[in-house]
Amino acid sequence: MSATIVTGKMKNYIGGAWVEANTDRYEDVPNPATGESLAQVPLSAKEDVDAAVKAALSAFPEWSETPVVERARVMFRFQQLLAQHQDELARMITLENGKNLAEAHAEVLRGIEMVEFAAGMPTLMMGETIPNIAKDIDCEVRRFPLGVVAGIPPFNFPLMVPMWMYPIAIAAGNTFVLKPSERTPLSSIRAAELLKEAGLPDGVFNIVNGAHEVVNGLLEHPDVKAISFVGSQPVAEYIYKTAAANGKRVQALAGAKNHHLVMPDTDLKRAAKTIVSSAFGCAGERCMAASVAVVVNSVADEFIQHLIDESNALKMGNGLEAGVDLGPVIRSYHLERVHDYIDRGIEAGANLVRDGRQDAADHGKGYFLGPTIFDNANTEMVIVRDEIFAPVLSVIRVADFDEGVETISKSRYGNGACIYTGSGRLAREFVQRAEAGMVGVNVGVPAPMGFFAFTGWKQSFYGDLHANGKDGVDFYTKKKTVTTRWFDDGEVHIGSQKTFVK
Ligand code: NAD
Repeated sequence: MSATIVTGKMKNYIGGAWVEANTDRYEDVPNPATGESLAQVPLSAKEDVDAAVKAALSAFPEWSETPVVERARVMFRFQQLLAQHQDELARMITLENGKNLAEAHAEVLRGIEMVEFAAGMPTLMMGETIPNIAKDIDCEVRRFPLGVVAGIPPFNFPLMVPMWMYPIAIAAGNTFVLKPSERTPLSSIRAAELLKEAGLPDGVFNIVNGAHEVVNGLLEHPDVKAISFVGSQPVAEYIYKTAAANGKRVQALAGAKNHHLVMPDTDLKRAAKTIVSSAFGCAGERCMAASVAVVVNSVADEFIQHLIDESNALKMGNGLEAGVDLGPVIRSYHLERVHDYIDRGIEAGANLVRDGRQDAADHGKGYFLGPTIFDNANTEMVIVRDEIFAPVLSVIRVADFDEGVETISKSRYGNGACIYTGSGRLAREFVQRAEAGMVGVNVGVPAPMGFFAFTGWKQSFYGDLHANGKDGVDFYTKKKTVTTRWFDDGEVHIGSQKTFVK
């Protein structure tokens, strides 16, 4: 079966076969650019979770015993298939998520990089040894996979975020159950097909579609050893607490409100272009999107004019069409929530200098909002406190660098923070003091490539070991420390010679 045809009722992928879910509840998956239905996703039941975990559990002994070099070779083949099918995957992402094709291509590339990282597992999984740590005693650390592990991603990177999880997990010898976002479940189907084509044995990778019931089934299941979650802050906190209470390892990456500090010594036009791209790219639905520009007052008027000019140049529309910069947001109910935030921003006294609601008129049934910019916002306002996750940017004016850094530290989130400056000294000071786990200097989206960990702070992350990089390998492996002593009272064979040491 080729699930590339994204119509009709979707199935789950269990033990290498596409099977119907134990439910009659299905949710529509619309194309956010048109409102047209693409498919129906099942809201699976706990029995479906049980079946997937069972398949993963029975695949585990053989897969974990498969030499790591062979597991890595599956990743090499998967990488080639992803590259070969890049156009098709990007198109699928645009259809289900709404981001434009260039952004979707970039997402596929970021996913491929994760697979490339995971293909290095023979090196990444190496243990450590100290011979003769005590007289005649050697000590070594070996890494083992955990068993069945599960991933719960968000809607905004339907192909890439699951790839922060399963390539590392699988290459390290675990077996995997994925619950895709019910809002963007289509790309994962193709990922499953390509993994199979790459030679991954049945049962190593499974998909259970659905929502809360599937999540709770995974959180409660005694055979699931670890949970990787990426999504909004309240759900991340719930996942972290529940998974930990059930004795599981957990990493829960959460929401964000990324502040960008603009200093007077920077090229204002260039900084505005970078911030507009960060704030409005992917329709603002990125956990590393700029959502607050903290601007030193002496240049704020000029800077805001640049923001407006750059925003006016963006073309909004269906991401499949050439030249489109800004696609729709994910759902009509999300758009309503964003409109409500805009109203609340105005009521609180922020100055709406660009109203993206007016751009949306000609866009039919899609869920569109043009670039929306508030001036004179402050840290008390809900538009600054909350993550809106849409093309809405708030500007806070500050007197100087110190006030800018203090403003940033008031956010309960700590995913990303950026500075725009020509001064190395200020940049260094910012890197040291900014209360965020990923910092950019003259960079609009300081999301690290998968070779580094994705190191959110504060309420942007719950757990100990982050996703990606060496943290990702640590997360999906457990260590065994072996202490060995051999006595010299036996027979020793050296080469073909038989030698007695006593
Ligand atoms: P979401 O929290 O609504 O959903 C994420 C996942 O959790 C989905 O699979 C969903 O089915 C499940 N879920 C939702 N509500 C649940 C509940 N009450 N109980 C159990 N499971 C539930 O997030 P979203 O809207 O899909 O994604 C956007 C969010 O993800 C934003 O907050 C964004 O900042 C965040 N995000 C964070 C990162 C990061 O690295 N920190 C990366 C990407 C996205």
